[in-house]
Amino acid sequence: MDYFSVTFGTIMSKMSTDALHTLAERLKSLERKSSLLNPPQGIRVQWQTAVEEYTNNFLETLKTEKAYYQREKQAENSLSSIPKEGIHIHDLLKDYQSSVMEEGINAASQGHLGYIPGGGIYPSALGDYLAAVSNRYAGIYYAAPGAVNIENTLIRWMCDLMGFPPTSVGNLTSGGSISNLIAIVSARDAKGLKAADYHRSVFYLTEQTHHSLQKAIRIAGMAEGILRYIPVNNRFQMDTKALAAQIQGDRAEGLQPFFVNASLGTTNTGAVDDIAQIGAIASKNRLWFHVDAAYGGFFKLVESCSKYFLGIEHADSITLDPHKSLFLPFGTGTILIKDAKAALKSHYYLADYMQDSYVDTNQISPADVSPELTKHFRGLRMWFPLQLFGTAPFEAALQEKILLAQYFYYKINEITGFETGPFPELSITMFRYSISNEKDNGINQKLLEYIKQDGRIFLSSTTIDGTFWIRVAVLVFRTHQKDIDLLLDIIKTGINQLTEQGHIPR
Ligand SMILES: *Cc1c(COP(=O)(O)O)cnc(C)c1O
Repeated sequence: MDYFSVTFGTIMSKMSTDALHTLAERLKSLERKSSLLNPPQGIRVQWQTAVEEYTNNFLETLKTEKAYYQREKQAENSLSSIPKEGIHIHDLLKDYQSSVMEEGINAASQGHLGYIPGGGIYPSALGDYLAAVSNRYAGIYYAAPGAVNIENTLIRWMCDLMGFPPTSVGNLTSGGSISNLIAIVSARDAKGLKAADYHRSVFYLTEQTHHSLQKAIRIAGMAEGILRYIPVNNRFQMDTKALAAQIQGDRAEGLQPFFVNASLGTTNTGAVDDIAQIGAIASKNRLWFHVDAAYGGFFKLVESCSKYFLGIEHADSITLDPHKSLFLPFGTGTILIKDAKAALKSHYYLADYMQDSYVDTNQISPADVSPELTKHFRGLRMWFPLQLFGTAPFEAALQEKILLAQYFYYKINEITGFETGPFPELSITMFRYSISNEKDNGINQKLLEYIKQDGRIFLSSTTIDGTFWIRVAVLVFRTHQKDIDLLLDIIKTGINQLTEQGHIPR
């Protein structure tokens, strides 16, 4: 007889000796099988060694690998199901190689200059490894005071960097989109907006604002809100006079101006809005002032960039993305909120089953400032590199990326037929081949296709007022001058080929 039917089927308060014996046998057998989940050191080392060899090989050959792979055929031998019995680590890694690594963008590559590149500095992987193996519960201070301290120290460091006071709070999020969502929700609740107000509540953005803000407004239930797209100047910065006038007009109409976003480095062109001016207008009109610095934020480490940050200390909230300008692996964003009460009002929660965890402390727990409860101890992937490297190499790398974007800007302008967007403020610039006729967009599309097919450098494009531009975004820590030189060579060869093929008149 199965012990389940003995213990639970017929409800008995005591088990017979036979039943107890069966239970013990069964448990022994289950323990043997479930212990596979806790492999001994021999197996752990075997797995570690295999992954280490794989990653070392990946890093050592990265220099000669492409930045973009156009996949011709579907990968063979792809493991597409979850097995009942485990497979060998070598088969697993072989499958990872063929089904993940051989197509799409190689985001770790020095040649990745598309979109906003991310990072992947090595010590972050070790931090993640340690966090996963030790598995401390970083959501609540009570559960892991040391882990939460590390995250709060990182938040404090970023608050200091942005000139936020010691009373401000923040959270390490999974990325800029969630950071923007936390900002919107905190702003909504801090201003006491109710559903009945939403149709009169006005958000001020520009066409260059990252789409995650509009998405966050929808997720926050405020889709009925009014979005005002303030015009931009020829450097793609918000026209602050137009902003002030629009707010005044909206007030006169009985609407409720509520939230303004300034971009510190737009995703499209890297433009930096006039933070001080927008902040002053926000303060005068009592708007929640959000600065989306997901791309540009850590350029604050570079002395020459401090001019862009003037007035940022007056923001109510700031989004940063360590997985962009701090070169961390994907999955690390940050929100900073000046008014702790505002952040807590939306996110703090008391639950009966968590009563033990409410210790008397002035330490904010990550769960108090985030939709998350249980979470990845992502602070460790930021803590490791900052401790092992210090901030100096980050500062140098960011300065280098700015200069590389400028170098490209000057060099491409030297080639006949090319024009560029505004001089790069940070590390993004854009260019196009222009023989001023209506076929230019098509030529530039073909040029980008050529660059992608070559694959050594990956670029992306954008369309502004109907004009197709190719973007160069320098933000991978591995990108250096020789990679920009390679890009310039590829562009020249591409133009020659398009000319030979008759797409460009001789
Ligand atoms: C990338 C980006 C975001 C979105 O961040 P994710 O980390 O991709 O979620 C928001 N705003 C700006 C300006 C960005 O560049």
